[in-house]
Amino acid sequence: MLNIALFGPPGAGKGTQAELLVKEYGLFHISTGGILRKEIENKSSLGLTAKKTMEEGGLVSDETIVKIIEETIMNNPDATGYLFDGFPRTYIQSYILEGIMTRFHKKLYGLINLEISDDVSVSRLVKRGQTSGRADDNEVTIRKRLKEYYDKTLPVMEFFKKVGNYFPVNGEDTVENIHHKIKVIIDSIQNENEFNIN
Ligand code: ADP
Repeated sequence: MLNIALFGPPGAGKGTQAELLVKEYGLFHISTGGILRKEIENKSSLGLTAKKTMEEGGLVSDETIVKIIEETIMNNPDATGYLFDGFPRTYIQSYILEGIMTRFHKKLYGLINLEISDDVSVSRLVKRGQTSGRADDNEVTIRKRLKEYYDKTLPVMEFFKKVGNYFPVNGEDTVENIHHKIKVIIDSIQNENEFNIN
C-alpha cells in the first residue's frame, strides 16, 4: 500500500503529476477540488454549499472535506494506494488525515511539495483560465487563492516536516523531469518501507 499526498500552491501541477502517477503506480486519485467541482455540477447540497466559497477563492470547511475523504476511502477500500491531491490543505486537515490513516490501518508515506513562485502560479492559471472554464481561474481569484495558501495551507508543510515524510520538488521544471524526480522519491520510500507495507 502506497499512500502519497501532492502539495503545492494553486497551479503547481498537482493534477498533471497525479495523472502520471496514477498510470505509473496504479494509485487511486483523490482530488478534493475535482470531487467538489463534480458536486457543484450535480447540484448536490454539498456542491451548493461549496460553490460560493470556491468561486471566491476561499477554502471549503474542514468538515466538508473530511466527509468527502472518508466517503471516498470507504467506497474504495480495495485501492492499492491513495494519491491525495489538494488535501490536506489546513493544519487541522493534516491531523485529520493522520487520524483517518490510523483508523483505516494505513499510513501516509510522503507529502510531495511542488514548489513554484507566485508569478508562475498566476501566469499558469491565467493561461489555464482561457480554456478551463473554471470560475476561479481569473487573476483576482487566483491572488485570493494564493493568499489562502500562504495563510492557511503553508502550515501543512511544517506539520509533515516535523513528522519526517516531507519531500520538496522544484515545480518549475518540465513535466517529465518533475515526474522523474517524484518517481525517485516514491521508489526510495517504497524501498525503505519494503518490510513494513500496509
Ligand atoms: P488549485 O490547487 O488549483 O487551487 P483545486 O482543484 O485543488 O485547485 O481546488 C479548487 C478549490 O477547491 C480551492 O480553491 C478550494 O476552494 C476548494 N478545495 C479543494 N480542496 C480543498 C481542501 N482540502 N480544503 C478546503 N478547500 C478545498
